[in-house]
Amino acid sequence: MALVNEHFLKLPGSYLFSDIAKKVNAFKVTHPGSKLIRLGIGDVTRPLPLACTEAMHRAVDEMANAKTFRGYGPEQGYDFLIEAILKHDFASRGINLSPSEIFISDGAKSDTGNIGELLRWDNSMGVTDPVYPVYVDSNIMCGRSGVLNEDAKWSNVTYFPCVEENGFIPELPKHRVDLIYLCYPNNPTGTTLTREQLKKWVDYALVNDAIIVFDAAYEAFIREPDIPHSIYEIRGAKKVAIEIRSFSKTAGFTGVRCGYTVIPKELTAANFEGNRIALNPLWNRRQCTKFNGTSYITQRGAEAIYTVEGQKQIKETIDYYMENARIMREELRKAGFRVYGGVNAPYIWLKVPTGMTSWKFFEQLLYEVNVVSTPGVGFGPSGEGYLRLTAFGEREECLEAMQRISNWI
Ligand code: PLP
Repeated sequence: MALVNEHFLKLPGSYLFSDIAKKVNAFKVTHPGSKLIRLGIGDVTRPLPLACTEAMHRAVDEMANAKTFRGYGPEQGYDFLIEAILKHDFASRGINLSPSEIFISDGAKSDTGNIGELLRWDNSMGVTDPVYPVYVDSNIMCGRSGVLNEDAKWSNVTYFPCVEENGFIPELPKHRVDLIYLCYPNNPTGTTLTREQLKKWVDYALVNDAIIVFDAAYEAFIREPDIPHSIYEIRGAKKVAIEIRSFSKTAGFTGVRCGYTVIPKELTAANFEGNRIALNPLWNRRQCTKFNGTSYITQRGAEAIYTVEGQKQIKETIDYYMENARIMREELRKAGFRVYGGVNAPYIWLKVPTGMTSWKFFEQLLYEVNVVSTPGVGFGPSGEGYLRLTAFGEREECLEAMQRISNWI
């Protein structure tokens, strides 16, 4: 008799964005003439940079020629892309990594979801709250999160609340947590940690023999000087941190699919005998078994992000989104809301009016101004009372949404 992995049955019924889609569909059926503006899901709207599409066209032509055709590529990724990453994302910031410490992926979701396979299921884990749902859900699937309590928290997950009261800066846990997920710049709050603040987490991990999974999917949006672009800017981080990056928001690759994961050779975890085991060869083994590489065409497209033209083109697009963020922040503040984020990240985190829940205010915005947002509580218990808006929309729609909200207020 085949027995099911019952941990899957513990997962909450449906994914946040399908709940939102259901509510939006119900609205559309009852209000067929209304024009909806979507500031909910974090997908991009600007097209791929020309440098990338040109590189991908060239790669397609290579695939059409028997002499330049490529079949299976290296599971870890092609050297040309790894070299570009090492030079531009790390060496330029004084971080030395070797090619075998980089693993090209099909995006940050797969790797943030799968990385927990490297550690025993019964490690304790911790997440900032609110949080990108993949970290907790993927740990529920392997049984590491425990069971769901009445307060909507998982029994084996330590939550680090990030709320107005603490300036969205998570406090270090009072007890030991083995596996910690940090995402900076943060989705959903749009806030960041300074070098000093991130250092506290690295030091905690060094002292407590913990491992940090650092999701830097929004690194390209950092504007302020004191914000670290990589966790490896912090001394000692190579011993305790895995960094995960994505080209999705950096270069509009949400539909192309490419990212990478850094597992330094120095990073180790213990076995029961107390021996230190390096995680880099384990991830290499895992990838060689379960992943057959990101497509050649995609990796050529990603390589082009690092060319002079590619850098210029992604900057224009990121500037466009960050101008949306600036407009949204200012207009929402003028309308009397308390808003956070949007300075080093494409997300605006809005405090809903006193006495209202996230979902109630989500529905008000939907029905009264026809704007789709994301209720903060969908990202974790401490997201209750907040709402996420994204700056990834078209400028005209963004302006119209702000106009509608200020007229309504
Ligand atoms: N990590 C965070 C924090 C995200 O917000 C997202 C996407 O929204 C991802 C990872 C997934 O990125 P990718 O498209 O590379 O899978």
